[in-house]
Amino acid sequence: METKYIFVTGGVVSSLGKGIISSSLACLLKARGLRVTIQKFDPYINIDPGTLNPYEHGECYVTVDGHEADLDLGHYERFTNVHTTKANNVTTGRIYQSVIDKERRGDYLGKTVQIIPHVTDEIKRNIKLLGNTGNFDYIITEIGGTVGDIESLPYLEAVRQLRWELGQNSLCIHLTYVPFLHAAKELKTKPTQHSVKQLQEVGIQPDILILRTEKDIPADMRRKIAQFCNVAPDSVIQSIDLPTIYEVPLKMHEQHLDEIVLKKTGENAEGEPDLKAWLNFLHKMDHAEQTVSIGLVGKYVELQDAYKSINEALFQAATYNDRKLNLVYVHSEKLNEGNVDEKLSGLDGVIVAPGFGQRGIEGKFTALKWCREHDMPTFGICLGMQCMVIEFARNVLGYADANSTEMDIKTPHNVIDLMEDQKSVTAKGGTMRLGAYDCVLKEGSKAARAYGSTHVSERHRHRFEFNSDYRDSYEKAGMMCVGENPETHLVEVVEIPDLRWYIGTQYHPEYSSTVLNPNPIFLDFIKAAIEYKNQNK
Ligand code: GLN
Repeated sequence: METKYIFVTGGVVSSLGKGIISSSLACLLKARGLRVTIQKFDPYINIDPGTLNPYEHGECYVTVDGHEADLDLGHYERFTNVHTTKANNVTTGRIYQSVIDKERRGDYLGKTVQIIPHVTDEIKRNIKLLGNTGNFDYIITEIGGTVGDIESLPYLEAVRQLRWELGQNSLCIHLTYVPFLHAAKELKTKPTQHSVKQLQEVGIQPDILILRTEKDIPADMRRKIAQFCNVAPDSVIQSIDLPTIYEVPLKMHEQHLDEIVLKKTGENAEGEPDLKAWLNFLHKMDHAEQTVSIGLVGKYVELQDAYKSINEALFQAATYNDRKLNLVYVHSEKLNEGNVDEKLSGLDGVIVAPGFGQRGIEGKFTALKWCREHDMPTFGICLGMQCMVIEFARNVLGYADANSTEMDIKTPHNVIDLMEDQKSVTAKGGTMRLGAYDCVLKEGSKAARAYGSTHVSERHRHRFEFNSDYRDSYEKAGMMCVGENPETHLVEVVEIPDLRWYIGTQYHPEYSSTVLNPNPIFLDFIKAAIEYKNQNK
């Protein structure tokens, strides 16, 4: 079949969940045996979100090929179980960089380089890159931002042209918001009408409308929206707030979203998607009665999206262990010797989060010392693992001034240090150790047992590393380096075998955890937390 292109735009307000809708549609099409990928076009000028802080843009997700990407790519992978790559996330910065490079090379010689056609052509070329591989039946393209933004205009113009060129091989889904006015006790459709009008003004007629709402939208109101917006009544679909995002595919399927998309793009819509495994996950989620309480120690705990992939990996692991996840955020800046016992003692497990810089770091050491001394199941990820190593140096090896050179450039005990090939790097964008690397785990280690394998591949995003000069001292004192890169011998995993579950990974296992393929080390961590809880009671 010819590759089909589905465009997803958003209107009225931001944060409506275009990523979740795109992911849910992809999940349904995939469950019908189709080959699907999702890509996101972000209208900002940064080349990628790697240099944005979590206050700006939430978590930075990392693809296997080492691209620092928008967190929506995490949803895409969690819902579809298909890897994304650098080609799945393009920003205005990347588009302009490419156009300007071409101009300097002389590719446009003699021509005035303009937004239309040069920038729009570059956008179109990028939209079709994955389609041209022949690997996909459906390419879902999420256009970041909100219709009406100045920045989105070139993207919408590209979509308009592609809709025209591709005809039935494409369609546009527009996601809007139907607010409920509490004072008037009424749902309001006017913002949706205006938003669709704005799309029509730039020449795009949406084929399907998805309405985000807190309340059920009555059928006659949906018909009214259909009529005002030139959309077929059955193509006006509501997306009501749900307890978890993982129920969205089912709600979309109940309203025939997958069927409508197939029909409108000229494909056979008979049959049903195979959602057995997905439903099994939801069943477990609904029937879990007992809870497992995990503390997440980090400095961005007030931000919902800063640790997105960790939250989701924990949720998946808890669900597969038949538990409800009670995630307790522990602010590392506010943690000290005086309150650590009160903050951590009621928990069943603790995760120390990844991060950068000095802020909140002492609280992480305080948490780790308490966890180590109380034999609490503890998981350190990236900076969290580095903190495990530093805390052990300070309090077990007796190097009171041990540190990472990220925090203290002059530390005499640089147990965490810059990699040699990072020392000359000055540019910040895309220069860390990024993407998936192999790791060999020591036979019989807790980490190897958790994975059920001695060979794993996980994604990285860091500059600093365990300093192997100290490896012997650590191993003699009981912290073992149980995972290493087979080529560089960089230490990737440490653990204290004498403790219940005290493991630190230099890599980020959360990025590869999906609904249908939860990450084994998260599963094992939750299992250990449940055992600890049961022993404690
Ligand atoms: N700041 C640390 C480093 O660059 C850890 C990074 C992280 O936690 N992602 O090595």
